[in-house]
Amino acid sequence: MRFSTRAIHVGQEAEQTTGATIVPIFQTSTYTQEAVGKHKGFDYSRTINPTRVALEKQLAALENAAHAGAFASGMAATSAVLNLLSAGDHVVASDDMYGGTYRLFSRVFARYAIDFTYVDLSDLEALRAALRPQTRLVWVETPTNPLLKIVDIAATRAAVAKPALIAVDNTFATPYFQQPLALGADIVVHSTTKYIGGHSDVVGGVAITNDAAIHEQIKFHQNSVGGVPGPFDAWLVMRGAKTLALRMQQHERNALAIAQYLEKHQKVEHVNYPGLPAHPQHALAQRQMRGFGGMLSFTLRVSEERAMAFAASLRYFSLAESLGGVESLICHPARMTHGSMPKEDRDRRGVTDGLLRLSVGIEDIEDLLEDLEGALSPL
Ligand SMILES: *Cc1c(COP(=O)(O)O)cnc(C)c1O
Repeated sequence: MRFSTRAIHVGQEAEQTTGATIVPIFQTSTYTQEAVGKHKGFDYSRTINPTRVALEKQLAALENAAHAGAFASGMAATSAVLNLLSAGDHVVASDDMYGGTYRLFSRVFARYAIDFTYVDLSDLEALRAALRPQTRLVWVETPTNPLLKIVDIAATRAAVAKPALIAVDNTFATPYFQQPLALGADIVVHSTTKYIGGHSDVVGGVAITNDAAIHEQIKFHQNSVGGVPGPFDAWLVMRGAKTLALRMQQHERNALAIAQYLEKHQKVEHVNYPGLPAHPQHALAQRQMRGFGGMLSFTLRVSEERAMAFAASLRYFSLAESLGGVESLICHPARMTHGSMPKEDRDRRGVTDGLLRLSVGIEDIEDLLEDLEGALSPL
């Protein structure tokens, strides 16, 4: 079965009692047992729910994997992966990653005697220098946020010996464009809030693996901590994921056209998009990914005030956090997603005051380009 066929069919057989073609929203917390302990495999919905099971089978199939555990948010899924660790363990993580992940690591798990080192994982020497005998996990995001740097997953695996695990947050690339497990990663995490859900109407997450022992622990965490999605949220993510391939093709077409347009614009200083030949890791992106995705960032040759005014003046790009929905969004990372980071750190990492990030939607490209042109020309 190929990608879209898996997205539409795996886990989604007709329902047995009624023949319902679409998996129902099993809005129930509990299940009636015939006799004590005699039930159909379902006892309580924190532990297991049929709508969630269908979603988990579908999402595992999208990463060509054996197992998936669905969560109520991307952060809950990330937290479940970090719970594989114990006090005294060491983690190496990307220094250019989702702000909420950094907050979870540095302000929650660091309090439980887990040690974190943040490095530029696109620099393999920096990765090797950060590894310690206690390193149990390397946390990778690629492409990175908001600078769209690429981390070489296969080379990371070659540098990181088991039993240290590699987890990849694959939210930006999606399984349609990048399959980290095939490149040697042990675990893939998604915020399904983004491209997989795809319609900005649900918050969710998932942790996916081929390792049965890891999955047992993820399931144990779902049940003992309880950060699971409700049946309706599971159903919304499942519905969104069916069109992932179609949407990603259009996201990518639009993003490439916009990156090419911005690259030539005299008011634009620099464009970060792995699909541009000028991207320093374009060749690696071509090797590792099947496509370059719908995210890009760029800097304008104008003051921060003007850059922010530009962002607010667009008609179709809503000024908003988040990404991956069908509608186009623009954000000013220094003031929005990375606002809690000191300016010095931001500047050192390249998240400058003039940087803008686009989540390019699937609208008609002519409208998006006209919108950008109309807002850029008065600058
Ligand atoms: C949004 C996001 C998360 C967090 O997911 P939530 O669903 O918001 O909890 C994690 N990683 C990346 C790359 C994200 O974009």
